[in-house]
Amino acid sequence: MELKDLIRDVPDFPKEGIIFKDITTLLLDPDGLKRAADELCNFAKNKNITKVAGIESRGFILGGILAEKLNAGFIPIRKPGKLPSKTISESYSLEYGTDSIEIHEDAIKPGDRVLLHDDLLATGGTMEAACNLIEKLGGKVVQISFLIELTFLNGRKKIENYDVRSIIQYGSE
Ligand code: AMP
Repeated sequence: MELKDLIRDVPDFPKEGIIFKDITTLLLDPDGLKRAADELCNFAKNKNITKVAGIESRGFILGGILAEKLNAGFIPIRKPGKLPSKTISESYSLEYGTDSIEIHEDAIKPGDRVLLHDDLLATGGTMEAACNLIEKLGGKVVQISFLIELTFLNGRKKIENYDVRSIIQYGSE
């Protein structure tokens, strides 16, 4: 089965008009999970990645697997108020209003080469903010990977100066 066939569309979640790309059906499938992890890992091999940063919450799953496969450490990037120690935060705009994400300020060491991972690229605002967090702490963003890219939303424009990879693309809704 194609990896794309393992993604479930859930209309009107979390609100009306949004077609939610549900990756839990892919995660349930042992072969699908392994193939997705292997493909993402192939993008990042031989790049001397020292840390993988995953974005809450679906970015934690394959991000954690990738970190282990690449012999790198794992950094959680989380919604406000979730990380227990000292954090820095970065805001980004949504359709209505703003949101922010946080990282522990001691998560990056000098010379760290970071792979940023999330499940899905939509408008790119979340990932742009995540890049800013890593760079504020002195890390180098070596690659950004997603399981899914909604190419019709042009999220790549916001992160065009980076090596951006995705496994599954959707050109329309
Ligand atoms: P964006 O900042 O617009 O690129 O949004 C990306 C974030 O929102 C990711 O963490 C995704 O998990 C989530 N997201 C946005 N749109 C969808 C969608 N249609 N289905 C599932 N997750 C989505």
